[in-house]
Amino acid sequence: MAHRVTLIPGDGIGPEVSEAARRVVEAACVDIEWDVQDAGEGAMDLEGTPLPDRVLESIRASRTALKGPITTPVGTGFRSVNVALRQELDLFAAVRPSRSLPGVPSRHEGVDLVVIRENTEDLYRGIEFERGSPELERLRRELVERTGYLIAEDAGVTIKPISVTGTRRIVRFAFDFARRHRRRKVTLGHKANIMKFSDGVFLRTALEEAEAHRDVGFEELQVDELAMWLAWEPQTMDVLLLPNLYGDILSDLAAGLTGGLGLAPGANLGWEYAVFEPVHGSAPDIAGKGVANPIAMILSAALMLRHLGEEGAGARVERTVEALLTEGSTLTPDLGGSATTQDVSDALARYLVA
Ligand code: NAD
Repeated sequence: MAHRVTLIPGDGIGPEVSEAARRVVEAACVDIEWDVQDAGEGAMDLEGTPLPDRVLESIRASRTALKGPITTPVGTGFRSVNVALRQELDLFAAVRPSRSLPGVPSRHEGVDLVVIRENTEDLYRGIEFERGSPELERLRRELVERTGYLIAEDAGVTIKPISVTGTRRIVRFAFDFARRHRRRKVTLGHKANIMKFSDGVFLRTALEEAEAHRDVGFEELQVDELAMWLAWEPQTMDVLLLPNLYGDILSDLAAGLTGGLGLAPGANLGWEYAVFEPVHGSAPDIAGKGVANPIAMILSAALMLRHLGEEGAGARVERTVEALLTEGSTLTPDLGGSATTQDVSDALARYLVA
């Protein structure tokens, strides 16, 4: 029976890399009924919202989506569709593997990391107060009256909630993930020395949970020190467990350690739904030029195939990507080659059907 999957091409380079991924999945001979749903800039122009209800309805029906990147205007404009999707569907865990790949030159060898990022809370919860707004003025007055804290009149404010409930489920998820994938240890990154009541909850809750998961190694590090170790000796790291903002930043760092954003896949998982998407964004600087590296999107599709129970097809796609990288003649410009997005998907599809 065909798997039903919502395909959100996204914007910028999204449609280019999504088409490539779809082509490769089809060449892997997995029967998928795609429900293509536009979101992002195109939907905003036509329907007045970047995330129309039909997109969420489609994912609620299919339970699984493959998603290209979607642009979020900086500072103004619509709220991030990516963040909204994760919150609406309660996709609380982002899983982002970064592994040294054959044929890809990078500063370090033998890197094999997985970033597990809490996806729904923290500074990305979307609780924002615009500088000079009446809501912020009320908040400033309340805070001064009740606590004596004074927020500068010309400040903008973002609130950082981190709950025990939200932390407990991501910590359990991380330990389960480590156990299932035979990982050595979980390293938690935090800044509980400074943000005692938000990162403090993250750290204390994780320390309690770690007691119940003693079969997996556990350590905690301040996130700045963790960043130093990642740049210095990333081979000593394994599963990284991070609150939302640090997870976002360190997953790009981890991608940079192993060949860049063009190669870094990701999954957003909740109890009910799963949305697979690359770590990279819509790359407006190269959009429409046909030179985006589709491998991050294709490896995200491979993660999706495994999730759908198509382990063999997922593994075949991953092996085929490794063969293409090792062979080295069909690489996009980010990897030093001159191939186009389509050249890469053509080559992968050829290998897969051979
Ligand atoms: P980006 O990831 O789009 O680009 C950063 C750099 O990496 C650029 O130089 C780009 O050309 C390069 N790059 C990214 N993907 C590539 C690929 N597949 N092949 C070759 N080169 C690639 O990050 P950005 O420029 O900070 O963000 C652009 C937009 O994307 C923003 O609006 C941002 O909010 C959005 N964004 C969306 C997602 C998502 O949809 N999940 C994630 C991150 C950023």
